[in-house]
Amino acid sequence: DVRVRFCPSPTGLPHVGMVRTALFNWAYARHTGGKMIFRVEDTDAARDSEESYRQLVDALTWLEIDWDEGVEKGGPHEPYRQSQRHDIYREVLDKLIASGAVYESYSTADEIDARNAAAGRAKQLGYDNYDRTLTDEQKSAFRAEGREPAWRLRVPAEDVTYVDLIRGEVTFPAGSFPDFVIVRAGGIPLYTFTNPVDDALMGITHVLRGEDLMPSTARQLALYSALVDAGVTDFVPRFAHMPLVLGEEGTKKLSKRDPKADLFLQREKGFIHEGLLNYLSLLGWSIAADRDVFSRQELIEAFDIVNVNPNPARFDQKKAESINGDHIRMLAPEDFASRLVPYLVGAGVVSTPPTDAQREMLTKAAPLVQERMQMLGEAPGLLGFLFRDVDSYDEDALKGLPANAAEVLEASVAALQGVPAEEFHAEAIQAALAGALIDGLGLKPRVAYGPARVALSGRRISPPLFESMELLGKDVSIARLERLRA
Ligand code: GLU
Repeated sequence: DVRVRFCPSPTGLPHVGMVRTALFNWAYARHTGGKMIFRVEDTDAARDSEESYRQLVDALTWLEIDWDEGVEKGGPHEPYRQSQRHDIYREVLDKLIASGAVYESYSTADEIDARNAAAGRAKQLGYDNYDRTLTDEQKSAFRAEGREPAWRLRVPAEDVTYVDLIRGEVTFPAGSFPDFVIVRAGGIPLYTFTNPVDDALMGITHVLRGEDLMPSTARQLALYSALVDAGVTDFVPRFAHMPLVLGEEGTKKLSKRDPKADLFLQREKGFIHEGLLNYLSLLGWSIAADRDVFSRQELIEAFDIVNVNPNPARFDQKKAESINGDHIRMLAPEDFASRLVPYLVGAGVVSTPPTDAQREMLTKAAPLVQERMQMLGEAPGLLGFLFRDVDSYDEDALKGLPANAAEVLEASVAALQGVPAEEFHAEAIQAALAGALIDGLGLKPRVAYGPARVALSGRRISPPLFESMELLGKDVSIARLERLRA
């Protein structure tokens, strides 16, 4: 059975690349009926933070990427935080010591450099496997000096080949890398060790991760054979490396510090989780040549690792927002309205919590904008005028006013005054305004209704005018028209 894992290091904010990795693992687990494991690789106390850990959990929870075993949830391989697994790593190290796969190494970086220089060997080649052949006397002498050994894996002098599920056969020629440290002096296990050890102990069948980690695969495979030899596991997982995510310009990797990569910033701008999940799944995968918009269920049904494209994917904010708009339109109206609340509260447009009157206004106003919004963050700008008075006008809105705006507004006020308050509904409003301005004054609709739109909302673009007037009521609508006229 398929067992995949998401195993981030909790440093910094959750970013798009990381979440795409979680998503593809999750989609593969759900597609195959396998298990998704969420492990946290927090072995670097200097860089890892609890805050970042919490944010990772929040990010997956928000996107409804759920997991079957792991942090916050438990499971048969607890604990799922590497910082709590030191005893386990010690035990595995002991097995590798017993099997002869690793050896003590006392060389310091300076000593390695000095030996390389003396032998005319390039510094970049790094470690020279010197300690492989230390005698027991040499080891005791080092210990007597107070040195503590690191543990290095004895790397066999042979090519390492594996079949990447996305990229096909990959070979690392023999001698590409020297014997490497898996546990530092002082007993500190390194990522190159803990990551495959946990994959082995947790029975991971598919390692699905970013292309940037491909160079480490050779070392991990070497370690994996040692784990198999030592009886820690009896199989090696399949590997697949997902394409890089490039920035908007399509030439460089999307930087973790690019605001577009910041998952929570994107949420603040107004992605709904359905929309962002859909877009993220397109970073290296597609459901069909002519289709960009699909549901979580459709993604699960169609997703397969072997269909992931090895070529870099470009992060396209415009496309992401347009897909988000499509998902916004698919929400049930009440659901849509309730998702606007945090944005309106955040911008101070409604109170915390919203009053009953504000809720009622929102229920009526939401349908006016659901069809035209791409990001929920547009809500305060689009709907604010329905909740509070307009005390200023956008510059571009004022610039766009026709020369005869005052006259048009005056005629509009007169027309509205003719509509009885109890009949102040969109159709009646439209009939009155059209009769006075278009039939009466012979104006084009843009000239006829533009000034009223600016007067009502302060903006050039607003929800439909007649419906907005109905929501504001006769008195407020007329007062706003008169204010702009003055
Ligand atoms: N902790 C590693 C990282 O965040 C995970 C690597 C992997 O997926 O194997 O880069």
